[in-house]
Formats: sequence, structure tokens, C-alpha cells
Amino acid sequence: MKRIYLDYAATTPTHPEVVKAMLPYFTDAFGNPSSIHSYGQEAKGAIEEVRVKVANLIGARDEEIIFTSGGTEADNFALKGVAYANESKGNHVITSCIEHHAVIETCKFLERRGFRITYLPVDEYGLVDPSDVKKAITNKTILISVMHANNEMGTVEPIAEIGGIAKEAGIYFHTDAVQTAGHMPVDVNELGVDLLSMSAHKLYGPKGVGALYIRKGTKLVPFMHGGEQERRRRASTENIPGIVGLGRAVELAQEEVSEEAERLTCLRDKLIDGLLERIDHICLNGHPIMRLPNNVNISVDYVEGESMVLNLDLEGICVSTGSACSSSSLEPSHVLLALGLSHERAHGSLRFSLGKWTSEEEIEQVLDALPRIVAKLRAMSPLLRNHR
Ligand code: PLP
Repeated sequence: MKRIYLDYAATTPTHPEVVKAMLPYFTDAFGNPSSIHSYGQEAKGAIEEVRVKVANLIGARDEEIIFTSGGTEADNFALKGVAYANESKGNHVITSCIEHHAVIETCKFLERRGFRITYLPVDEYGLVDPSDVKKAITNKTILISVMHANNEMGTVEPIAEIGGIAKEAGIYFHTDAVQTAGHMPVDVNELGVDLLSMSAHKLYGPKGVGALYIRKGTKLVPFMHGGEQERRRRASTENIPGIVGLGRAVELAQEEVSEEAERLTCLRDKLIDGLLERIDHICLNGHPIMRLPNNVNISVDYVEGESMVLNLDLEGICVSTGSACSSSSLEPSHVLLALGLSHERAHGSLRFSLGKWTSEEEIEQVLDALPRIVAKLRAMSPLLRNHR
């Protein structure tokens, strides 16, 4: 059975061109960039080339890019790094209640260590209101962190507006752009951010590598202590094959970001319209327009998300309930609850995330399979029987 992968927000397959670019760095060009001999310098040269490519993708300067082990580390580094470096100025951090666990759990950690965190609410579409950000600022606020786009329900946040507010108040502003970098235009100056996280495995690069953009002049303490790599900001021997893979992925993304976003938006809307038309008692979660080009998140009443995922999987269609990180937990997604969804609706959610190899035929197969599966599950659903 040919499988259909519609979980690109969880991770993307590594592009064959990326694998090809990485391979020599496992074998011939295996040097340690800290070594002064030719092997070392070859590796160092490769990293510096990637630094320029990543900087170009987001409108930054190359010296403002630090490589990390992924999005989670970039988020941890940004939040803890700024919090601890600016403790003498204040202890207040503003974030939203729909952030990825990499931000939420870091905030909870900081809270346990004496920082005060404001978790801003969102409206029914998942949007943070910039005026709420403004109202939450106090003379103790040192950092604002709001994600660029949500990984579960796909809403794209008004980052440039929040960036303007942060700048006016002289407060550092971080955004988690793990779901947007390489998928839609991202420019750190247009967005007005001082720190931005990204991850290679969400843009057809390898897992275990990412980057943090740190605007020149931003005060933050190092996250990893040890050697002097990454201008003493992130110790540990660099993951050269991974970084080279990130660089090739960024290059490929840059070549086709606008066209691909347009193509995926058409497929996304075909899937949304088709599902709303063919299945009753369902709703779209997230914003209808201000959403990622590849994200479809729906709630289907009277059925469990897990049952739909397993039944789709039996037909070779791979999707997710909520986010990949929470799919092993029985708790409903904090993101869907923040939109005001009941526990039942949140439990009946499905996330489709489309990507480079998604075709129209695949969308048609989903439009054929899911209504059948929902009808079958509803026929034996105690939830529906109780409702009648
Ligand atoms: N932030 C967001 C919005 C994500 O979607 C993810 C991954 O799902 C992460 C952070 C974590 O990235 P990584 O898996 O590279 O640690």
C-alpha cells in the first residue's frame, strides 16, 4: 500500500539533495572546526557558509546566527539566556498560552526560579491581541515571546505589530518561527524581533539541528558552557553534517518558498472545503485566512481523534491529533482548549499538515476516506448515542 504522509508539521522527510550535501561531511570532510589544520578549516568554512545562508533567509547578519540542536534548544536558549542576563532589570516575561511546550515549559521553569510569567489568552481563532501585550507590560518586563505560527492549529500571529510594541517599550522580543522559516517569508527586521528560533527538520533538513537568531547587542547568557564554539555562546563541537544539511535545506526553501506556499494554500483550501462539505458536525480550528499554507485542523463531533488517526493509518494515511509532542498524552491539547473548545471537541481534533510531496490525488483520497471512517465510527459511538 502506498502511504500518504500528511504530518509535515511533525517532521519532514530529509530532501535527497540535503542528504547528498551532508554525506561528505561524515566521511572525507570529517574535521573538527576548532582544529587549525586543513581538515578543521574545511569544516569551519562549511559552517560559515551556512551561517550566511541562514542569515539571508531571514534578513539577518551572519554573525547574528547561532547553531543549536534544534528548535527546543533555540527556544530554551532565547528565554533562559535573556531572563538570566537581564535579571537586574526585571523578572517579568510575557508569552502566550498557545506556545509550543519548548516555550511553555521553559517559562514554567523560570517561574519556579522566581520569574513572573504572563500567559496571554487568544481569541477563538487563536490570535494574540497586540493590545493585550501592551497592557501586560510593566517596568519589570524584560522579554516578550510569541510564536510566529502555531504548530497545531496553524494561526499566524501579528508578530510585526507586537514587534513594534516591544521596540517602543525597549523590551526584547523573541518569536518561535519553527513552523514558518522556509515555509513563508520571514524577515527579522520586518517582524521587529530580537531573537528567532528555527529547526531544520521542519524544512526538509535533518533532525537535531536548528538555529537561533540573536540581534546584535542583545544581552543573553550562554546556554551551554564548555569550549569556545559559536563565539562562546554555545559550547560543544558543531554538528557539521547537520549544519550543512540545514544550509542546503534553507537554499532549497528559498528558491521556491512563494510558489510552494501558493500551491499548498490551494491544496489546503481544497481539503478544508471538501471536509466541511462532506462531513456534518465538524469545524475548522484556527484562523480561516491567517493560517499556515499547509495546515488543516478540524474537530469532528462524536468521534475521538485517536480513532480517526488509527483508522486513517489502516488506509495508509498518516495524520496527527493535535501536535506530535502531545499525541502520547491523554490530556487534550492546551492550544485547542485556549481557543475555547470543549474537552470533547478538542479530543475529536485532527491535524493534517501538507508538504512538498503532497498531491491533489492524495487530498482526494483523504476526502474519500475520512467521511467513510467518520460515518463508521459515529455508527458505534456512545458519544452520539448519548447526544440523541
Ligand atoms: N517550536 C515549534 C513551534 C515546533 O513545532 C517544534 C516541533 O514540533 C519545536 C519548537 C521543537 O523543535 P525541535 O523538534 O527541533 O526541537
